[in-house]
Amino acid sequence: MEEKIVRRNFYLTDQTLQHILRSELDTPFFHFADKELKAFGEQVANEIDERAKHTDRLGEPKLIKYDKFGDDSSTVWVNEGYRQTVKETYETGIVGYVHKEIPELKSKGNYLYSFAQGYVLSQAEAGFYCPVTLTMATAFLLNQYASDELKEKFLPHVCATGDVELFEGATFLTERQGGSDVGANIVRAIKDGEDYRLYGEKYFASNAGMAGVAMVLARIEGATSGSKGLTLFAVPWRNEAGSLNGISIRRLKDKLGVRAVPSGEVEFDGAIAFVVGDPTNGLKYMMEALNLSRICNAVASLGIMRRALTEAQKYTENRDAFGQKLINFPMVQDTIGQLTAKHEIELLTVFDLIKLYDRVVAGNGTSEEIILNRLFIAIMKKESAEQAIHFAHEAIELHGGNGYIEDFVTPRLLRDAQVLTVWEGTANILGLELVRLVRKFDAHLLFVKFVELRLAHIKTQNSRFEIVQKELANLNEKLVKFALLDEITQTLEAKLIAKQMAWVYESLVAIEVAQKMGGKYELFADVYLENTWNLREFGAEAKSLKLFL
Ligand SMILES: Cc1cc2nc3c(=O)[nH]c(=O)nc-3n(C[C@H](O)[C@H](O)[C@H](O)COP(=O)(O)OP(=O)(O)OC[C@H]3O[C@@H](n4cnc5c(N)ncnc54)[C@H](O)[C@@H]3O)c2cc1C
Repeated sequence: MEEKIVRRNFYLTDQTLQHILRSELDTPFFHFADKELKAFGEQVANEIDERAKHTDRLGEPKLIKYDKFGDDSSTVWVNEGYRQTVKETYETGIVGYVHKEIPELKSKGNYLYSFAQGYVLSQAEAGFYCPVTLTMATAFLLNQYASDELKEKFLPHVCATGDVELFEGATFLTERQGGSDVGANIVRAIKDGEDYRLYGEKYFASNAGMAGVAMVLARIEGATSGSKGLTLFAVPWRNEAGSLNGISIRRLKDKLGVRAVPSGEVEFDGAIAFVVGDPTNGLKYMMEALNLSRICNAVASLGIMRRALTEAQKYTENRDAFGQKLINFPMVQDTIGQLTAKHEIELLTVFDLIKLYDRVVAGNGTSEEIILNRLFIAIMKKESAEQAIHFAHEAIELHGGNGYIEDFVTPRLLRDAQVLTVWEGTANILGLELVRLVRKFDAHLLFVKFVELRLAHIKTQNSRFEIVQKELANLNEKLVKFALLDEITQTLEAKLIAKQMAWVYESLVAIEVAQKMGGKYELFADVYLENTWNLREFGAEAKSLKLFL
């Protein structure tokens, strides 16, 4: 089976993404985004995809620990295509235009557009998107909390779009003794004149050696123990003379996946560090940035899901077995149909959340929306990361033996997907976030009210509507019991409840889009509901097969 050389385009073929952008952006912004994404979608699916393959297999980042004089240089070598990808990606404004004007429009962009770009990019390589998301978090923190002086120093570089030198960002929290338990951090900050100097080690530091400035949590000498004693610092990688700023890389991690990202162990030995915002609020600021990173994680998950699905589709449409194409077999159609419906609905749901995020982060969310935003981020990060692994697994299965071979993208998709459930908060940590939101803010009541209000806007109360109403009632019953449980028992139920909440949210979005768009979106909703809620009677026809009629 020979693969034809055709120029693919990850955006042009994605009608749902185009629908989201058309619905959510004003007309001039949509035309701009549409034009830019057409070009970026082609570039990602071809040149950047080739570079992703090369970087993963042959050209992964390498630590150059010492220079020719034997001095510690702690620089990271990346291949030429990698450098080109960094340049091209940031010049699209994927980070910059969230915070500064798009010259063509004379107005700022937003997260929705940035996430659309990230979703397209991660279809080639989540490891290329990761540094972008770290730079997004860095820009967010500087923009929200840094002094004017610090902003002036770093923000134009972090938001560079080819106009000034680019400083990629990084966020260093995790230490050897704890990632989830950030309160255990011990990196020390010692006052030196107006600023501080950092001492100690960060154990997982992605974008090490590539970042121009890192956002680092450290404990000022004398500060209280635990998470309340952590301060946020902006730490430039190099000083103004161009030498290392008291930072060295011990080694780069030898990772299962996302091998395109240099993730290092970093040591600070007197690195100059600038306090960002109120020194007693370091963890609070970082948690806000973490929420942004969790959306990035969901967007990367969607990218992997789509790539896995499109590869599986392409392969099964071309591969012959038992005298016909694989795609003609009902079992294959059922798998592809279920994945298609899940991906379409999850894409719409994550972007529904992003719409809310844009409002909340601009300071325009109500107090209820601020809580719902946190809740949706936790449940959708968890659900989408798990789905990315599931989709990559199914894509390998549908390729048969070839799916397991590195000539195909499928093994890389699975290796890359596997990190998405770990970084930015594991499933347990997200479950604990749900418990916290329920105990502190009655988030379960807000969730039910939110779904009920949206259901009230659905005009056609058909069988789809009844399914969602019934599942919401079931969930509500559980949530009421959940809220009354003791905290330990709540933690045992949290992940299951989080999953059901994600499914109800997605079911709501599924029937909304079915009503709004009709046609194939009605079928996506039917397949999604049947599969998610296990509605097909034993022996009955599967709705998924209708997608192939
Ligand atoms: C490739 C890669 C890149 C990374 N890059 C960065 C980076 O740039 N910056 C950074 O700061 N970090 C980074 N990390 C670290 C990552 O964020 C942490 O690994 C993650 O947060 C988990 O922390 P941990 O490894 O210490 O695991 P632990 O916290 O030790 O967790 C181990 C297990 O215990 C569970 N667990 C922990 N606490 C609880 C609890 N209270 N209740 C129930 N279960 C619990 C967890 O869910 C997990 O399953 C990276 C990690 C990887 C793999």
